[in-house]
Amino acid sequence: MAIKQNIAKIIDGIPSDIQLIAATKSHSVKEIEEAISAGIKTIGENYVQEAKQKYEKLKGKVKFHLIGHLQANKVKDAVEIFGMIQTVDSLKLAKEINKRTKKAMPVLIEINIAYEKNKSGVFQEDILNFLDSVKNLKNLQIKGIMTMCPILKNPEDYRQYFRKMKNLFEKIKSEKMQNIEMEILSMGMSDSYRIAIEEGSTMIRLGRVLFNKS
Ligand SMILES: *Cc1c(COP(=O)(O)O)cnc(C)c1O
Repeated sequence: MAIKQNIAKIIDGIPSDIQLIAATKSHSVKEIEEAISAGIKTIGENYVQEAKQKYEKLKGKVKFHLIGHLQANKVKDAVEIFGMIQTVDSLKLAKEINKRTKKAMPVLIEINIAYEKNKSGVFQEDILNFLDSVKNLKNLQIKGIMTMCPILKNPEDYRQYFRKMKNLFEKIKSEKMQNIEMEILSMGMSDSYRIAIEEGSTMIRLGRVLFNKS
């Protein structure tokens, strides 16, 4: 199937209050334009450099979210390109974004829900302290949390992690911390988005199911 049909089918199959982000790493401007014409409003890019090139051609046509790890020396470019940075994973990075951005930057805090050594992200038991230390950074709009789960063979095995994320999301909400809005729970990719939605995701990030010919 072509990209357009893939996307139409996916949009049809998910509740209308779920935000769909097209994960477009390694996909061309042409493919992204096709996705936009099928109804995609926001794309997620992993690398600042790659996003920058696409931004020059797609500026104003689609919103950009950063969904990959951000290095401090790329923050200056990132705050120009992205409408949201989904991967705030350290205090150092939060402070750097706060310093570099001119407008209030919407961000999500990345959670390392499975304690994976090769992944960044805040551990669940540290999140309240983390939020306490970033809540007064005036140029950050903290909108929610996101996670990248481990890659698993059986989709059903994702459920335990999504459930932990949802519990964490609700716990943070119940703390009613100043300057912390908990509106977005970003979780679920091609193999796992159905389960993520069942477990309370509000934002899914899909790549392969949108762009792969099958
Ligand atoms: C690539 C990517 C996705 C999409 O993954 P698919 O399995 O292709 O749907 C989602 N989130 C992040 C952070 C990614 O890097």
